[in-house]
Amino acid sequence: MSTAAYDVVIVGAGIVGAACAEEFARRGMRVAVIDGDVVGGGATAAGMGHIVVMDDSEAQFALTRYSQQLWQALRPDLPNDVEYEQSGTIWVATDDEEMAEVLRKREFYSQRGVPANVLDSQELRRVEPNLRDGLAGGLLVEEDAVLYPPCAARFLIERAQKLGAELRLGVSVTRMGEGRIRLSDSFEIVGRIIVNATGAWAPKLTAGAEIKKRKGHLVITDRYPGFLRHQLVELGYLKSAHSVGSDSVAFNVQPRRTGQILIGSSRQYGAEHKDVDQRMLAGMLRRAQEYMPGLGPMSAVRTWTGFRAATPDKLPLIGPWPGDNSLFLATGHEGLGITTSLATARVLVDHITGAKPEIPIEPYLPSRAAKEFAHA
Ligand SMILES: Cc1cc2nc3c(=O)[nH]c(=O)nc-3n(C[C@H](O)[C@H](O)[C@H](O)COP(=O)(O)OP(=O)(O)OC[C@H]3O[C@@H](n4cnc5c(N)ncnc54)[C@H](O)[C@@H]3O)c2cc1C
Repeated sequence: MSTAAYDVVIVGAGIVGAACAEEFARRGMRVAVIDGDVVGGGATAAGMGHIVVMDDSEAQFALTRYSQQLWQALRPDLPNDVEYEQSGTIWVATDDEEMAEVLRKREFYSQRGVPANVLDSQELRRVEPNLRDGLAGGLLVEEDAVLYPPCAARFLIERAQKLGAELRLGVSVTRMGEGRIRLSDSFEIVGRIIVNATGAWAPKLTAGAEIKKRKGHLVITDRYPGFLRHQLVELGYLKSAHSVGSDSVAFNVQPRRTGQILIGSSRQYGAEHKDVDQRMLAGMLRRAQEYMPGLGPMSAVRTWTGFRAATPDKLPLIGPWPGDNSLFLATGHEGLGITTSLATARVLVDHITGAKPEIPIEPYLPSRAAKEFAHA
């Protein structure tokens, strides 16, 4: 058996592991990243790439807004293939009850410095003419953006590599803890700090991490330039994203730079297989057409699924794992890991290095959720 030693070893080269690698390397640490597959091949390859500020809780707002601002700051450095576009989100309201939610949301964002404008029925129709008639209005959140997640992960990994980080792909980690990482080829890696950034697979390596897989479907169409201008999300999406029991679908469509339209989204617990579920897919597309009838005749070029890493309280697990001084978690980002990857890395590395954090880490600490500690 051979060994190698680093300051930090990160398991998982999805967007979260990539962001952590870049952040640790930028602070001068000797970093290794290991992935059983390729860079950004897990949920990162499946995700929509919507960089969105959310308001479920103050903690969720703080992480999403901070991270969105970090993406904005990174924008001049992002290569073309990351396809970063600040296209904005419109939260679409169907009736007066949802318009009341639009007003509440606008108030929440305005009080916290996030530009957000209420659109009435006619303004909504003017900015998105392919929405159906008769919708009540919406909320335009201008600073929300869109990017292509696998290329963003690759960009962050390459930046880490330029700063000296080493990358090992195609070899799985079978065990991690107490500063040691065992690989499937029997190689052992030693790290003063080891980070589990394996997304929905995290509980396999860290027993007791309360994460469940939450399956999602997406469809991408052929090119229809100009059909859609903003990311459009139904306000009912909030109900669907929050439901903890039943399967759900919601209208959530995204304009890609290529003129393609990415159509989401679905949520399912207990579905372990990657196969496309025709029932969920049909429900999702029906929902999309209820809002945008013009989607019906379009041709789809690809359909796929992915697994979000869901925690019981809908906040990620970022920080030390109780009972093991070397082990840190950066996982459990559910449907927001592309958005929150950069802030996750900052919060984690600030905590470890003792730097003054921009936002407090406490709401995300894994100690709040640890069911049983591997070393208790
Ligand atoms: C349908 C869908 C739509 C989404 N839309 C959005 C969106 O619009 N905006 C947003 O912000 N988020 C979105 N998300 C969520 C986002 O994609 C995830 O939160 C994010 O990609 C998680 O990144 P990660 O690095 O934690 O995990 P992953 O990308 O899953 O990376 C984990 C990595 O760990 C590796 N790994 C696992 N086990 C091992 C092991 N034992 N040894 C070595 N390597 C291992 C895997 O190979 C993988 O590369 C969406 C997710 C889905 C499924």
